[in-house]
Amino acid sequence: MATAEIGSSLFAAADAAGLPDLVTLQLADVFGGDIDFFLDLRRGDRFSVVYEMRYVDGEAISAGRIIAAEFENRGRTLRAYLWRSDDGTENYYAEDGSPLRKAFLRSPVELSRVTSGFTMARFNPVLLTWRAHKGVDYAAPMGTPVRATADARVSFAGTQNGYGNVIELQHRGAFSTLYAHLSALAPQVKQGARVMQGDVIGYVGQTGWATGPHLHYEFRVDGEQHNPLTVALPNGEPLPGTQRTAFAQTIVSATAQLKLAREIAGTLVAGGE
Ligand SMILES: [Zn+2]
Repeated sequence: MATAEIGSSLFAAADAAGLPDLVTLQLADVFGGDIDFFLDLRRGDRFSVVYEMRYVDGEAISAGRIIAAEFENRGRTLRAYLWRSDDGTENYYAEDGSPLRKAFLRSPVELSRVTSGFTMARFNPVLLTWRAHKGVDYAAPMGTPVRATADARVSFAGTQNGYGNVIELQHRGAFSTLYAHLSALAPQVKQGARVMQGDVIGYVGQTGWATGPHLHYEFRVDGEQHNPLTVALPNGEPLPGTQRTAFAQTIVSATAQLKLAREIAGTLVAGGE
């Protein structure tokens, strides 16, 4: 288990706590429906995580899955618990059985060591630009992977004047998303193709009317742009009622471990049973 406070970036905090990169990326994935790790992180945010570690002859070999995690972000506390259902599928749920996996990811920018943290967000006039051009700009290094925020069919993949290289995705219901100024599209992204949530669909660039490398992201409902930072996103599937009791019993020990992780803040404990 590990616990850390965000100082400059998620990876810096994770390094200080001795957290393997694999677990850090899982952490960003688990909370990716609630937290835009590119824009939402703040100094003083905290996280605790309980994860699997494989040992051979008492020596730590590799990290496994996150079993439970807690993220305090901008004054709210989110918790996630791994649950394996009867058919073997694994998902993360909050204490009340609501799903951590949402219909949409909060951020279209793939998190990495380079893009991690909130320092770049300060240079990103998201709220200032929103009214003017109905999208959110993510300033990111050229070539940063851009991912589909939800399962979709590709409704457009090509070039449009101001947008440069642009992808439009049609999601279930009335939702669509748009990703502009890309340096390149992923090879499988053709009109009519299916993409899954989290798939890399293209790469950050500055094609079209862009003064520097950034991703211009639009979120549309019935063809009309909404602010993706504030729009209420549809939820994923909750834990089935028949599994709630077993789930509630299972998370008792994980909750105790999270509490212990908080109490030993700043230290890494190699714990195996
Ligand atoms: Zn823009």
